[in-house]
Amino acid sequence: MIQIKTLEEIEIMRESALIVSKTLGILAKEVKPGVTTLQLDKMAEEYIRSEGAIPGFLGLYDFPNTLCMSPNAQVVHGFPTDVPLVEGDIISIDCGALKNGFYGDHAYTFEVGEVAPETKKLLEVTKQSLYEGIKELKAGNRVGDVGFAIQNYAEKHGYGVVRELVGHGLGRKMHEDPEMPNYGKRGRGKKFVNGMVVAIEPMINMGTHQINQLKDGWTILTRDGKPSAHFEHDVAIVNGKPELLSTFQYIYDALGIVSDEEDAFRAN
Ligand code: MG
Ligand code: MG
Repeated sequence: MIQIKTLEEIEIMRESALIVSKTLGILAKEVKPGVTTLQLDKMAEEYIRSEGAIPGFLGLYDFPNTLCMSPNAQVVHGFPTDVPLVEGDIISIDCGALKNGFYGDHAYTFEVGEVAPETKKLLEVTKQSLYEGIKELKAGNRVGDVGFAIQNYAEKHGYGVVRELVGHGLGRKMHEDPEMPNYGKRGRGKKFVNGMVVAIEPMINMGTHQINQLKDGWTILTRDGKPSAHFEHDVAIVNGKPELLSTFQYIYDALGIVSDEEDAFRAN
């Protein structure tokens, strides 16, 4: 069942979303060759706890860490490790936090040093596919409209859209209804209404959309070994329109990036 949030609850959720956004902003400065994903995980846990929040993934379905860390051909759900990142890697960092009974859930794929131009393009297209999906998240539209927009944009660039993992409703639980696939047909699925909060998170592969899961029961990899990217925002429907609760602005401030991509989806 879809849990509709009041405006007050959405404001509480904004705080959780800002904590995960700030966490990724802090990590943005630290993602460089030589750092290990376990070191980044520890920094994230310390910051989240300093904000009076609890790491949202730690212990969830028995996941052992604060962050999901998925480099290169890993799609999502990778573990932090003591292997240092190297120049040219990409690393998807997915972060959850729980505060005041509500979750934030946010992901960004970072470049480690200088990455290949075709990899840079994968990141740009995946991030834009997220916004193409968010544009469709308005009252009266349906789940399939978001999935269609993401899939259409990614496939236009020749990329593969992962099917097995999807976005989701967000609230007092990390994963609520409805499921938000990154593929779909216009006009299909549940209808959006004011007060819905969802995490939209396209996982886009440079090559085939097919994936494998490692025997660890968690790590998802592309079947062809080509890179995969992942970006995730928390979005509420307010006054019929999509409103971002999370923001990449802390990442952009850390990296000196100027962007107006979120302007259309800010609270009035
Ligand atoms: Mg996430
Ligand atoms: Mg999520």
